[in-house]
Amino acid sequence: MRAVVYREPGRVEVADVPDPELEDPSDAIVRVTRSAICGSDLHFFHGKAPLEPGDVIGHEAVGVVERAGSDVSSVTPGQRVVVAFNIACGECWFCRNEQTALCEDFRNLGAGIFGGGLAGTQAELVRVPNADVNLLAVPELVEDEAALFVGDVLTTGLYAAGIAGIRSGDTVAVVGAGPVGYFAIQSARLLDPAAVVAIDLEPDRLALAEKAGAVPLNPTEQNPQTALAERTDGRGADVVIEAVGGPEAFETALKIVRRGGIVVVVGMYTSETYPAQLGVWWARTLDLRFAGVCPIHAWWRRAMAEVEAGRLDPMPLISHRLPLQDAALGYELFESRRATKVLLVP
Ligand SMILES: [Zn+2]
Ligand SMILES: [Zn+2]
Repeated sequence: MRAVVYREPGRVEVADVPDPELEDPSDAIVRVTRSAICGSDLHFFHGKAPLEPGDVIGHEAVGVVERAGSDVSSVTPGQRVVVAFNIACGECWFCRNEQTALCEDFRNLGAGIFGGGLAGTQAELVRVPNADVNLLAVPELVEDEAALFVGDVLTTGLYAAGIAGIRSGDTVAVVGAGPVGYFAIQSARLLDPAAVVAIDLEPDRLALAEKAGAVPLNPTEQNPQTALAERTDGRGADVVIEAVGGPEAFETALKIVRRGGIVVVVGMYTSETYPAQLGVWWARTLDLRFAGVCPIHAWWRRAMAEVEAGRLDPMPLISHRLPLQDAALGYELFESRRATKVLLVP
């Protein structure tokens, strides 16, 4: 089959690789109809996380079940499914308690040795372990391209807003209007806030956020702290969702939240550090919530239902559809932020 493989830092290419086989009775093989390039693929693309040359990259996909092992009971060949971006066992304590991102046997598709050595989804076929847990059937009325997002960024945004304790009438700020921020905005809007303020440096992202009902705020034009204070009688945002993953964004979140407010950190961190001002945070009664990786399996049915009902809509985010063959161009477009989301069509 054809697949996008990692070659060296900054270079992927499309190559012939062996078709995946069923390796365990709980596996399924999915024929991919759409995959996508995600912000976290860029870490691998740049060699910041280890992939071996020749490893198949990618973790977002929707497709049709091609074959299923003898233990698979929730999906059957021919069925349309979305793939979970992280692969959980479904049986450990964390999985049984809706914390599948903390699974004892946590694995990631297309994430090299630390992801469990599983091949990725930017390919014609992908093997999905524990298919009963890690595949979700796509309802008839939901298109493949919309369902794709339920496997990762849309559900992550819904989760971030869902754990943020948003109450009717709250002023919510979302720092970072990339894909996860975009869906956090849409999801927060469903909870009847007074306003959702989207903070980003990219005009294109702000325009998309505005179309989704957010108030756009570009920090190069307007001071976020002042702007949020003005909207709230000087208090600051009731809830802030930090969807960037960087000390600067974290600091912005701390500056714009009101005393006694809630900060949800959904942006991804690896080795960054930040001085904890314990006395200040304590005195401000700050409620700081680290979202970590989204426990996708606990939230994706809700997410799919919202997509089916038309209350969450991923379609405006898609800027490019490219043949799988042009994946390298897709990485270039996404990396340089000329694309908001690139879909790859095998
Ligand atoms: Zn992703
Ligand atoms: Zn588990």
